[in-house]
Amino acid sequence: MRLGQLLYIDLTGKIIFVALLILMNFNTKTIHAGVHPDPTTGAIMTPIYQTSTYAQYAIGDNKGYEYSRTHNPTRTQLQDNLAALENAKHGLCFASGMAAIDAVIKLLSPGDEVISTNDLYGGSYRIFSKVYAAYGITFHFVDMSNPDEVRAHVNAKTKLFWVETPTNPLLRIIDIQEIATVAKESGALMCVDNTFASPYLQTPMNLGADIVMHSVTKYINGHSDVVMGALVCNDTDLFNKLAFIQNSCGAVPGPQDCFLVLRGIKTLHLRMQRHCDNGRQIAQFLADHPKVSKVYWPGFIDHPNHEVAKKQMKDFGGMMSFTLTGDRLDDAKAVVSRTKLFTLAESLGGVESLCGHPASMTHASIPKEQREKSGLKDSLIRLSVGVEDIDDLIEDLKQAIQ
Ligand SMILES: *Cc1c(COP(=O)(O)O)cnc(C)c1O
Repeated sequence: MRLGQLLYIDLTGKIIFVALLILMNFNTKTIHAGVHPDPTTGAIMTPIYQTSTYAQYAIGDNKGYEYSRTHNPTRTQLQDNLAALENAKHGLCFASGMAAIDAVIKLLSPGDEVISTNDLYGGSYRIFSKVYAAYGITFHFVDMSNPDEVRAHVNAKTKLFWVETPTNPLLRIIDIQEIATVAKESGALMCVDNTFASPYLQTPMNLGADIVMHSVTKYINGHSDVVMGALVCNDTDLFNKLAFIQNSCGAVPGPQDCFLVLRGIKTLHLRMQRHCDNGRQIAQFLADHPKVSKVYWPGFIDHPNHEVAKKQMKDFGGMMSFTLTGDRLDDAKAVVSRTKLFTLAESLGGVESLCGHPASMTHASIPKEQREKSGLKDSLIRLSVGVEDIDDLIEDLKQAIQ
């Protein structure tokens, strides 16, 4: 990213900050992209603009801010930062990941069709099948790691491809570039839910996505203290449509939450590196454990989509799932009740390690037969490996599985 020269001028007209930043790499962008010292005081950290409205100096004469549903300076800096991290031109933040998904579906009209993955975040499946199906939008849930199966569902009404990769909780990998080709052929938009990977591991805009969606709640904020969503895109017409929906429907985040996320993002690269390192060691520990029957982690060479993961991701992340020998539900329940560092909880991507039981937690809203069809076993345990000491984490799993 080429920034050139940045000048910040305070209210008396004095230049208070000059920055010459040329070609920022990812680890620099997390800290500097989109943010700048406050023009009023020089405050290095983006202030929390806790205001709903802004003084107008005359009718139609304002400083670009009129009302905080539409724009807020703390949110603007976060949106610009997120766009830069995803190599996109435009960013928009929402009150939750679900609100961001909701805004994308509102681009569609009754009669339109969406092709999505069958191993999908439970809340996405719920809003598609329980909310928007009633508005006359048809959703096809297919195995998107097989492009032929995707092509088989394309028709003239196909308007959106919804990709989530790595998938949740089975950690399948979908070839983003390949689905982008199918989407372009059919003239439909493609949106990638990049929550599991974070922009540190993969940037779908570079692989042909039209929109990238995030549950900012997870890795991007990384501290399990905010619920937020985001969309980024390049096309300015598309951005204007999404911004119109954001402003019209009003699911915007507050400035305090934007501040917390901006703070969290500054260590995204450091956290992700540790998530990946810890994840690699835990995946290996589990694979070697006699009581573990299968580990779902894209870093293994025998993972069915390992080559695609290697091609489109920088590393393999800290998310994984595993089943126990015998595949008994009670054994899985016992393991998640015995862990001490891995807290039993919904969500993922925070500094602290979490474990979950998808069939009864995150994916309970998906009917059992649909779950089994997509290979989600009742004994499956999902881990979000945090950034704690690796020996402590392995010790915790050892005593829980024994
Ligand atoms: C959590 C999550 C969402 C929903 O985001 P919220 O911030 O909880 O509304 C969507 N997609 C994925 C992959 C998620 O993990």
